[in-house]
Amino acid sequence: MSGTAKKLIDELNINKHLDRDKWITLLSDWDDRDREYAAKIAREISERIYGKNIYIRGIVEFSNVCKNDCLYCGIRRSNKNAQRYRLTDDEILMCCDEGYEEGFRTFVLQCGEDSAYSAERMANIIRRIKEKYPDCAVTLSLGEMEYDEYKLMREAGADRYLLRHETANEEHYKKLHPAEMSFSHRMKCLEDLKSLGYQTGAGIMVGSPYQTVECLADDMLFFERFKPEMIGIGPFLPHKNTPFCNEAKGSYELTLFLLSLCRIMLPNVLLPATTALGTIRPDGREQGVLSGANVIMPNLSPTAVRKKYMLYDGKICTEDSADQCKMCIHARMKRIGYVVKVSRGDYSYDKDSDLR
Ligand code: SAM
Repeated sequence: MSGTAKKLIDELNINKHLDRDKWITLLSDWDDRDREYAAKIAREISERIYGKNIYIRGIVEFSNVCKNDCLYCGIRRSNKNAQRYRLTDDEILMCCDEGYEEGFRTFVLQCGEDSAYSAERMANIIRRIKEKYPDCAVTLSLGEMEYDEYKLMREAGADRYLLRHETANEEHYKKLHPAEMSFSHRMKCLEDLKSLGYQTGAGIMVGSPYQTVECLADDMLFFERFKPEMIGIGPFLPHKNTPFCNEAKGSYELTLFLLSLCRIMLPNVLLPATTALGTIRPDGREQGVLSGANVIMPNLSPTAVRKKYMLYDGKICTEDSADQCKMCIHARMKRIGYVVKVSRGDYSYDKDSDLR
């Protein structure tokens, strides 16, 4: 165990801040024992705020049509091998019906950037879900839109929005995205979402090509400043039909370490153990929870389309029904001493909230 890493983890725990040089030192020199040390602190924090509860969000991947060409992503527009699909509004509602039956109280609507789903159309879908299930939260993950569009959907009842910033380092951003996409617009979207009162999620892929410890230091400083209510961190995994097909996977251990550091820095954050983490290791999501994560996002998409929403090779849970996914997550959590909670699982703005 490196004395320096331990000292920096302790400093982060006390001050909820490290300066950039210290982040670079910490992320450059740590070992498994440092990671386990951070995980123990992270777990204690998570349990103090959220108890042993794990919040589940049912994700409906309703379209894989995308106008963007992100170099890492399996549903990028240039992937001519992707079989494209779109769910109808009724089909999306049917996924929520099934999810509600299974105990989900948050529905995450995610898609590629697909102009067939305008803000008006989404607002209508959100209103229908909210009318039918007023006790549920609606989370959107539709990519970059304009302020008025986010506003319309917020007014229709959307509660949360997931938009990973992907990297807080502009030079790195340019290496992951084509020239027509802009770092400043993605950052503006995040600011817009926060200002509209969405519980807002940012995040990164760990080990994305060209990522350095300096990039990760910038990500941690961005999280500290922006204070997202949710942070999505998963390993980068290559997809065979993308320019990054031959790039290495992200590190499993570093993903776990970063989850713990996020929990220590932002104690109340909602932190998913992602599907990518469960893809890189069979017990990745359990280990994510044991490193401080408190959210899991099982799939509610119809099994007929699951395999078509292939962001990276080997994505898990593409065969199972919503019911099977739920049972599997319950069993996995029980095995490590946690319990899946039937609740919206909102961000706890106060550690003494009644979420428990
Ligand atoms: N279109 C929306 C957006 O841009 O936010 C939502 C869908 S997008 C596919 C969801 C997330 O998947 C991205 O933010 C990215 O971090 C992640 N992702 C895409 N390709 C990936 C890959 N090869 N490995 C791991 N994660 C990936």
